Amino acid sequence: MTVRATKRGAERTSLEGERADVLVCGASFAGLAVARELAHTGADVLILDRYAIGERQTSACACPTPWLEAMGVTGAIRQELPYMSFTTPHGSVRYRLPWSWSSFDYRELCRLLFEQTDARFDTAKVEGRGRDLPGGEIEVLTDRGAVRAPLVVDALGWRRVLAHPHYQPPEGPLTRALEVHPPHDGSGDALDVWVERGITRRGYGWRVPAADEARIGACSYDPLQHVKEPTVALAARLGGEPLGFQGNWIPHRLRPAVQDGVLFVGDSAGHCFPLSAEGIRPAFYFGIAAGRELRAVLAGERSREQALRRYARFSAGHRHAFGFALRVQRLIPALPPRLLTLVLKVIGRQALVDRSFGWYLDVTPPAFAGAEPRPAAPAAEREPVAA
Ligand SMILES: Cc1cc2nc3c(=O)[nH]c(=O)nc-3n(C[C@H](O)[C@H](O)[C@H](O)COP(=O)(O)OP(=O)(O)OC[C@H]3O[C@@H](n4cnc5c(N)ncnc54)[C@H](O)[C@@H]3O)c2cc1C
Repeated sequence: MTVRATKRGAERTSLEGERADVLVCGASFAGLAVARELAHTGADVLILDRYAIGERQTSACACPTPWLEAMGVTGAIRQELPYMSFTTPHGSVRYRLPWSWSSFDYRELCRLLFEQTDARFDTAKVEGRGRDLPGGEIEVLTDRGAVRAPLVVDALGWRRVLAHPHYQPPEGPLTRALEVHPPHDGSGDALDVWVERGITRRGYGWRVPAADEARIGACSYDPLQHVKEPTVALAARLGGEPLGFQGNWIPHRLRPAVQDGVLFVGDSAGHCFPLSAEGIRPAFYFGIAAGRELRAVLAGERSREQALRRYARFSAGHRHAFGFALRVQRLIPALPPRLLTLVLKVIGRQALVDRSFGWYLDVTPPAFAGAEPRPAAPAAEREPVAA
């Protein structure tokens, strides 16, 4: 049984009455991206998660390399993958992308992100939203007591814990995904994708090489279809043992990014792309956007309500790209496999690969991370300049 690093026994002192200027619930990609944006603002930022930071890997951890560079976390990269391959029952194509994927170490990436914040962290299970307190503060209920803050972020993933109603599978617009992590010899330069009805009727299978392990899995856009059997079968076909199961639900439709004074970021706001189920860089991107709005509130440049409205508009402004991806997600499983194979071959011309994957990256462009400088560390905290 996996033992998670949560606080136990005497360590679990009460958090009742704890207050912060900003409360970030969730310490994965989205939550850490928000907190990173708030470093050196002088604000008291408290991050809560039910597990210690980096403790629970939530994905195959493949992300466009330019985003890992933009977030200052290239130290977590395990293997760079400049190619993608797509296999159908009728053939395979291999694309050289205009940018590369990199698989990374989740624990190390979270550590590197947290290092860029000056937030406090504690473990607690967030149970829901409490009362609205006088002075505009919001109470958040946890298994260690009620915590309050005027600015609250839900980066808790697909459950959207701080909203009503919660999303409940399998009824919600959710994809289900599962993967295994067999040992790997470090070979391969591609992120491999299988679009075969024999694997999942509506979805795909993948292999992400990550140095000494491969991350092999399957997802189904239909939340009623189980993916354990396809995952095990794909791993066996690729010669991998089904070790280290890990799975989750993934939202595939944008949700309101603000509700009742709370900002929702990452999977809680449906920021994972439909079709590809790629959610890490959107979590960074929207986390940065939310963090910038909160920073403006802390600096007294905007009221909380103005910032919430701006963030909600920013998120909804991506509905066309997300809507397009959702339509393609519905279309692909309906295409006859031979036609799909032909389409993949046509797109495989380099000019079209560059265009389509360039568009795909630009939906959440990595340049966004550096578009607005973050506040610098006070002089005392900076490295002394060598003589
Ligand atoms: C099998 C699989 C493979 C995937 N592979 C990729 C991939 O290779 N690349 C990619 O871009 N995307 C991938 N995704 C999607 C990606 O994992 C998500 O979109 C991404 O993790 C969203 O980030 P997030 O920070 O919003 O939420 P999460 O990463 O889900 O983080 C939520 C955090 O909140 C904490 N939390 C949850 N509930 C509570 C609670 N009640 N109280 C306290 N803490 C709580 C969790 O411990 C976690 O730390 C994959 C998903 C799955 C399931």
